[in-house]
Amino acid sequence: MINIKLPDNSIKQFPEGVTAMEVALSISEGLARNVLAAEINGEVCDASLPINSDSDLKLLTWNDKNGKAAFWHSSAHLMAEAIEFHYPGTKFGIGPNIEAGFYYDIDLGDKTISSEDFKKIENKMLEIARTKQKLIRKAISKKEAIEYFTKKGDEYKLELLEELEDGDITLYESGNFTDLCRGPHIPNTGSIKAIKLLNVAGAYWRGDEKRKMLTRIYGITFPKQKELQEYLELLEEAKKRDHRKIGKELELFAFSQKVGQGMPLWLPKGAQLRERLENFLKGVQKKAGYLPVITPHIGTKELFITSGHYQKYGEDSFRPIKTPNEGEEFMLKPMNCPHHCEIYKIKNHSYKDLPVRYSEFGTVYRYEQSGELHGLTRVRSFTQDDAHIFCTPDQVKDEFKGVMRIVMHIFKALDFKEFTTQISLRDKNNKEKYIGTDDNWEKAENAIIDVAKESKLNYTIEKDEAAFYGPKMDFMVKDALGRQWQLGTIQVDYNLPERFELEYVGKDNKKHRPVMIHRAPFGSMERFVAVLIEHCEGKFPLWLAPEQVKILPISEKYNKYAEKVCSYLNNYDIRGLIDDRNEKTSRKIRDAEIQKIPFMLIVGEKEESENTISVRKQSKGNIGTMEIDAFIEMINSEINNMIAE
Ligand SMILES: [Zn+2]
Ligand SMILES: [Zn+2]
Repeated sequence: MINIKLPDNSIKQFPEGVTAMEVALSISEGLARNVLAAEINGEVCDASLPINSDSDLKLLTWNDKNGKAAFWHSSAHLMAEAIEFHYPGTKFGIGPNIEAGFYYDIDLGDKTISSEDFKKIENKMLEIARTKQKLIRKAISKKEAIEYFTKKGDEYKLELLEELEDGDITLYESGNFTDLCRGPHIPNTGSIKAIKLLNVAGAYWRGDEKRKMLTRIYGITFPKQKELQEYLELLEEAKKRDHRKIGKELELFAFSQKVGQGMPLWLPKGAQLRERLENFLKGVQKKAGYLPVITPHIGTKELFITSGHYQKYGEDSFRPIKTPNEGEEFMLKPMNCPHHCEIYKIKNHSYKDLPVRYSEFGTVYRYEQSGELHGLTRVRSFTQDDAHIFCTPDQVKDEFKGVMRIVMHIFKALDFKEFTTQISLRDKNNKEKYIGTDDNWEKAENAIIDVAKESKLNYTIEKDEAAFYGPKMDFMVKDALGRQWQLGTIQVDYNLPERFELEYVGKDNKKHRPVMIHRAPFGSMERFVAVLIEHCEGKFPLWLAPEQVKILPISEKYNKYAEKVCSYLNNYDIRGLIDDRNEKTSRKIRDAEIQKIPFMLIVGEKEESENTISVRKQSKGNIGTMEIDAFIEMINSEINNMIAE
């Protein structure tokens, strides 16, 4: 008999060779029906795999990330089977699950597939799914596998096979379709109840522009029709909120092929919006004791060799820039940290000066393949709201607390109500993988967890997810559509202080290494603005809106009064413009609504004679007539409420 430990820490005994599915059945039939895969001692695998020794077991269902992954990956097999049925002779590349759904890269030879063909593929998939077809795992030798795919004539699978070691090759058989695959898969296709193919695109084999362009088909599946319906509605809503579309409509940013792809151009309205965000954070940081610094966009190759960034980014990044005569080599900076380390080194530091906090809105450059670029979320140049804190190991906790307070303040001011925190720690069984002393790691990890607890954060702990140079904390926000975005990060670093030989003189009069903390609450301005646009659908919080007020004179006669109101508001730093077009008021209101302007002030005879304004709030309608001063007070108190800590 072997002991199986379940997530609730209960231990049950089973005969050797028991499967996760049998364990599930011993608990309840209902549970067994929902089991998609299993996690045995942290390894995700088929629920039908025999367990031969004492193990920790987690049964994975649709509610688990890895359960969904197995479901969607198995759906890729199902799609391949349907494609092979309709397009015999198709060669198959890879078919992974992705964040939502799956795709398969295929070579159709001289045939093509368009979205018009999706229906017949979906129908075949549904037909097969209903037969509860099993996905059968077969461990075979490399030789046998090569024979199989040579006979089938699938050069892509043969290429993948070449890179695999003999002894860990598995095939999965589902109906007439056999795939080279590591798994895991769901027990059978019966749970796949709703299917939708979403998109067809070209994709280079193995992402290599020199190789053949294959056809990539994206799809998604669900255990319930209702879930598919909800997902498709979400997609529709996401399309409306796409920051690329809204960014264009509101004239916030643009791209020019001539300037270069992935290099955002901030237009006046976008630049002003970004400036307001930056000023807000600068104000908060000033109060929190940050010192601003400014550094160049490039640095010598040696700087980045010292920091290690050359090894990480140098090879596959922008090529070095050479000066004409001196033989110098510069690189565009992929990160601001090396420059800030050099600033720290300019002075001698005593423990009494620490912590030192250098902040900079620093623009960095990283090469991304052109196919990976996406609006403001994947770009080649972006500006981080960066800062580096140099402190003693004992100060890490307070510094974390301080940074977290800033992050919370930002989320509140921008109306991100739901967020989660992920704490990434080291793998304690492999301490030699990490740089920095055991003692410091222990101290920093405990400090981070304490801060999360004390602040009552909704956090998860990921063991073995820390970088080799230090533990970190990431913030994920949920936007208005419930989508998760990773934004700010706080990262402890024992590596750069070592590489740059940073020092401070301690109480004991001896030299010590400071701890470095990297932090960026927004992450990058580009990505943050993109997320913000999609979150609020372009209806920015009042303090951030490019235009807060539109003044609408009901006829030409009142343009003068409108101007008077406008300049009065401008004197109080309220951003307003007049719509003095020769249009009906209803038309002007509609246009201001489309432009998502928070307030519309309608002025006519009555308003002019009483020195008042009629106020409409965006998407709320008329909120009454008031004196201009009362309106200013109302706006200011609304803004102050939002941006207060
Ligand atoms: Zn597979
Ligand atoms: Zn950094």
